Amino acid sequence: MQRRSFLQKTGLTGLALTALPHLSFSNDFEYSILELMGKADIELYGEGYQLKKEAHDAFVTMKKAAYSDGIDLKPVSSYRSFEHQRSIFERKYQRYTDDDGMKPIAAIDKIIEYSTIPGTSRHHWGTDIDIVDGYRKVEGDVLVPSKFAEGKPYADFKKWMDENSKTYDFHLVYTDTPGRRGFKYEPWHYSYAPISIPMLAEFRRKNIMLLLQKEDFIGSDHFTEGFLTHYIEDNILDINTELL
Ligand SMILES: [Zn+2]
Repeated sequence: MQRRSFLQKTGLTGLALTALPHLSFSNDFEYSILELMGKADIELYGEGYQLKKEAHDAFVTMKKAAYSDGIDLKPVSSYRSFEHQRSIFERKYQRYTDDDGMKPIAAIDKIIEYSTIPGTSRHHWGTDIDIVDGYRKVEGDVLVPSKFAEGKPYADFKKWMDENSKTYDFHLVYTDTPGRRGFKYEPWHYSYAPISIPMLAEFRRKNIMLLLQKEDFIGSDHFTEGFLTHYIEDNILDINTELL
């Protein structure tokens, strides 16, 4: 049953719902498996980037504030579909195994330092965005942690985001917290918490790990249950605790 028809049938209002905490709306109709895995057609907003409406509006507000402080919040990557993530994964897998002669498991371990397994990217959700400072001229790759360090091109961007992003509900996902496992430090990757927190909760409830074993793309036949269990624990769940 869709949420709207449920509300219409029962005549419940938002106010009444707050008095009914045992009613859960998250099980089947908030976020579908297809949406969580980047396989659904969802409404996205933005010029040169794509986010869900609420995340987009918050980003625009944050971008305006940053402008007035001399920082140009420039999106590098935002929404990504399953198919897009699949092409990234397969390209890297083939490069590491064919060109570099790496064993499949070693290649996958190398890929998941920075890239996700298709179906598990937070970029599938329309809530996450990679951002740099468009005012800075930077040679080569921009998404490099050292370029955000003290005295480097994106140092001012990092300082501004450290001080202000949470005001707009954007939180860094892959922090440099000592001992954090999973994806490496990504000072550019921010997540819009009001939507991504419930989406992650739904992702866990729907047990996406089991579904990953049914996926079929280059390299996916090396995903054992043990590997996927660790991957979910480390890469999906060992993130900034503000986003759990
Ligand atoms: Zn990212």
